[in-house]
Amino acid sequence: MRLTFHGGAREVGRSCIEVETSGHRLLLDCGLKITTEGTEYPIGFEDNKKAKDIDAVFISHAHLDHTGALPWLDHKGMDCQIYCTKGTKALTRILLEDAFKVGKISHQHLGYEQADIKKVLNCMKRAKVLESGTFNSEIKFEFFDAGHIPGSTTVMLESEGKRLLYTGDLKTKETLLHRAGYTDFPKIDILICESTYGDRDHPSREKTQERLIDAVHETLERGGVPIIPVFAVGRAQELIMLLAKRSFGVPIYLDGMGIKVTEAALANPDSLRDAKQLEKAFARVSKIGGYKDRAAALRKGGIFVTTSGMLTGGPVLNYLKVLNKDSKNAILLTGYQGEDTNGRMLLEKGEIYIDGLKTKVGCEVKQFDFSAHDGMADLKELVRKISPKKIIFVHGDEGAVQNMVEWAGAMGYEAYGPELGDIIEV
Ligand SMILES: [Zn+2]
Ligand SMILES: [Zn+2]
Repeated sequence: MRLTFHGGAREVGRSCIEVETSGHRLLLDCGLKITTEGTEYPIGFEDNKKAKDIDAVFISHAHLDHTGALPWLDHKGMDCQIYCTKGTKALTRILLEDAFKVGKISHQHLGYEQADIKKVLNCMKRAKVLESGTFNSEIKFEFFDAGHIPGSTTVMLESEGKRLLYTGDLKTKETLLHRAGYTDFPKIDILICESTYGDRDHPSREKTQERLIDAVHETLERGGVPIIPVFAVGRAQELIMLLAKRSFGVPIYLDGMGIKVTEAALANPDSLRDAKQLEKAFARVSKIGGYKDRAAALRKGGIFVTTSGMLTGGPVLNYLKVLNKDSKNAILLTGYQGEDTNGRMLLEKGEIYIDGLKTKVGCEVKQFDFSAHDGMADLKELVRKISPKKIIFVHGDEGAVQNMVEWAGAMGYEAYGPELGDIIEV
């Protein structure tokens, strides 16, 4: 078996690993990376023949850093089955269509057409969690719940007498939205492990939840408006579940793509810890349908849960345009803020761009770690439990990957942290 790292190697973004067996070329994920210069795709597909030669793709979950290059490879001639869960397909549809729309509006050269998205979705073949399947009678595969976002999975492949496990993005601790990711795997020869948080741990989820609830109460008590920016997938659902259980005496609004994603998650509830509770929370929040609803909600006041999570676009900017000066208001960030995003600039300099204008923000700003990834201690626990022969760390920045490679090496594992384009024979 031979592994080629087309992306996601010592970086977070464009996850794409090729698994070559004696008869097949398979891809584990096929994502894109968004940088300040634009969109970056996996490397090594300059020759379209490479895309045409792919026999099957296995998708761990719907995030664009794992799916965003599918239409691009389709445009280059890839024509094969794409295995994923039903939940992943539903969310991939939403995210690919949104990425295409945003790309067109911002005049980006995407390298594919809308028809490619349609074809990709048609090629998606449903894989059920905990049910093994075979591809061309030679490759055995099985998907397991990853606890990361709705529909997310880890993927196990078996070929040539070797068993390979790819974690995708993983959360092995329970959250309000998801059960803990599955960890009772059979004997694994090769583990390809994400390492987003390979050099740091998360605070306790319960404490983070309490801190956020306290911040919402404090803001309301001083007559301010809490604005809670969320990622549409996962975070929006978790936050409305957290808030809707409590009584704040004001409406809770949900605005942006999180609405569509919640509907898709409820239609594919297998990976949810408690679909009934999400359904109740979704029924309780007021959904903002457009400009008029937004204006009415702003007049009435309340708690605003809205995309985008890093303030890079979406309705959150409409709210901030009106609410950013008042020191009674609070922006309660619920996740990691990427480099060169509005959210990062807000944390570091107290400024954001709204409609292209740099704006000094007067509201209180707080950040909360609701990460959907395992922290360093969780990753180490997972590696020890699986105890594979070989372990390869991906999906992490330089420091995070290096830290995990050194730790695993010291523990006696054969550990790798491949660079972009590297090939490893396993
Ligand atoms: Zn992810
Ligand atoms: Zn990812």
